[in-house]
Amino acid sequence: MSAVVTGVDSNLPCLGVAFIAGEVGAAAEVLKACSSAGVELGDSIYLRGICTVAVVELPWYRSFIDFVEPRVKAYLSRYLGDFKRFKGLDLEWRKVNFAVPEAGLLRSRLRLCRLPATVAEDLECLVLSWNREYQRRYNWSFKVAVGKVCRAVSLLSRKNVVLVKLENLRGIKRRNIAYLKRWSWTRLVKLVLGCTPERVGVALVDPSYTSSRCPICRGWLKRKTYRVLVCVDCGKEWHRDVAAAVNIALAEPRRMLRTPRSP
Ligand SMILES: [Zn+2]
Repeated sequence: MSAVVTGVDSNLPCLGVAFIAGEVGAAAEVLKACSSAGVELGDSIYLRGICTVAVVELPWYRSFIDFVEPRVKAYLSRYLGDFKRFKGLDLEWRKVNFAVPEAGLLRSRLRLCRLPATVAEDLECLVLSWNREYQRRYNWSFKVAVGKVCRAVSLLSRKNVVLVKLENLRGIKRRNIAYLKRWSWTRLVKLVLGCTPERVGVALVDPSYTSSRCPICRGWLKRKTYRVLVCVDCGKEWHRDVAAAVNIALAEPRRMLRTPRSP
């Protein structure tokens, strides 16, 4: 029986996955499990075993701003005529406060200063309900993508000892970056623990440098485009989430959430 280590890196629109199989037989099973789980594999390289990588796109992804901006604009344009008539009247005007992480960005994109209080209130309620709808769609999409990886891992664990490694990102939300607040690391950990059998091990690794070092030569990775990174030493191009997934698979486990067992 042989061992397979899986590294999973999760970004907003996609997941990077790397499988490192100790021997050829296990590598062949990685191919089989991934093809029946719908995970499309990319390159294979030799890195402490046969390392095969994949990018799993979320079936639906849009940024919250792109999702909500046209709706807010449509709402405002319907009332634009009324605004002009309101101007002469003695109305209460105030600043809109959207209770979403991207509030500041949304306000500046829409160039919103002050609105009549009733309009502001309605708009705030609408944005909140669109936010719930967005979160529901995103969560569904994330679950589908993680589910594919979990399915491959579960199939693989029928004949191999499998250890899934994830970054330990506890506390990342404390950083005040809007898009990070959208992303839920605990959801990923819970899904992986819940959607794979007990025999699949789950470990957390240190997240530093996972997307800045080349997995092959440890050289620094330079950004070519948002998704593509280039190693300054060996020149290899990496999809950023694939490089991260390989580094996660290679990293030492810092905390074992569930010990792997043989099938
Ligand atoms: Zn390199």
